[in-house]
Amino acid sequence: MARDCILAIDDSKDNRSKLEAIMHHSEDPIIAIGSDENITLMNRAAQAVFRVEDESIGMPLTAVIDRTDIIELFGLGGKERSSRQAEIQLDNGRVYLAHVTIVKHVGCAAVMQEITRFKELDRVKSELVSIVSHDVRSPLTAILGYAELLSRAGPINETQAEFIGRIRRNVHNITALISDQLDVARIEAGLEQEIECYHLPTLIQDVVNGMRHRADVKSQTFELELPSHLPPSHGNPLRLRQAVRILIGNAIKYAPERGKVLVTVNQQDEQIVMRVQDDGIGIPAADQPSIFEGSSRAEEATRPRRRTRLGLPTVKSVVEHHQGQVWVESDPGKGSTFTIVLPITAEPPEQPSAERPPLGNDRAD
Ligand code: ADP
Repeated sequence: MARDCILAIDDSKDNRSKLEAIMHHSEDPIIAIGSDENITLMNRAAQAVFRVEDESIGMPLTAVIDRTDIIELFGLGGKERSSRQAEIQLDNGRVYLAHVTIVKHVGCAAVMQEITRFKELDRVKSELVSIVSHDVRSPLTAILGYAELLSRAGPINETQAEFIGRIRRNVHNITALISDQLDVARIEAGLEQEIECYHLPTLIQDVVNGMRHRADVKSQTFELELPSHLPPSHGNPLRLRQAVRILIGNAIKYAPERGKVLVTVNQQDEQIVMRVQDDGIGIPAADQPSIFEGSSRAEEATRPRRRTRLGLPTVKSVVEHHQGQVWVESDPGKGSTFTIVLPITAEPPEQPSAERPPLGNDRAD
């Protein structure tokens, strides 16, 4: 019995020293303090980051690391303690994401991961978005302007007119592509905060009025079924209009000549259900899960006109920002039905105020 106890103690000592060795050699800085706010563990990486000597064990953390962000992270000095995370920016430019975990009756421990490279990538991405937004759109607008003016500057022959038309179409396509990219980036960055009261049937009717001619051009039957009554809801009508326009635009685009597009809206409990149905080429089952991610492998050759693969990701972002859901049911060769479900939000949700950048152009489908 006594021998078993001795073996168990040895075993636990062995495990403890293994654990300590792992923590000491971890490349992520780790700091632990006891309930008395004194340091119980500070691994080598943490000592190097905060330029601290080995003898810091047992000393108060505040005496060893004189940083307000660390004090707040650990909830020291009588502040309420809870598990939390914070970014710690060092003077040498390095940035760490620190997670603090509370261990009841023991104290708390912080593990820090260096995220300097991710912060830098994020900065480069924002810079690129702003460069594209301002510096690429302006010359494109100028090219378009001059292409329009060419025919007014003197007589042009048929071939020249065709070339001018191609220049204009291509510039429109690049501009739409840029706008789609910026829209997705903005929505993902949470910059779309403007909340207003909207009435979905009115919003859809507006979109349909502006798009019906496209279905007429293809001699398609376009039907719209709206409920006689639907309560107003709160959200971003500009963005919802964009999502509805993308779905209806796709339905018209992928339905055949003399095909059919049906748009219906219903209320189910506290939700609005909108369906956009077409009898077009459909989407292969293998492609359906990826089309909302912008990486559809759908057969290019059978798809008419410009393809940016950004329409459906935008729809998904908009719908999810309204706490809704979107999905597709599709039968290749028979057609597709896209369904959007949005909660009816009678009261505007609490929103933090945010400066809103100007809206990009809508895609020119
Ligand atoms: P784009 O239409 O510019 O390619 P989208 O993100 O709007 O970009 O659509 C992604 C892909 O999903 C399309 O390329 C097409 O293959 C498929 N798709 C979308 N809507 C439909 C539809 N109504 N019918 C058939 N295929 C569709």
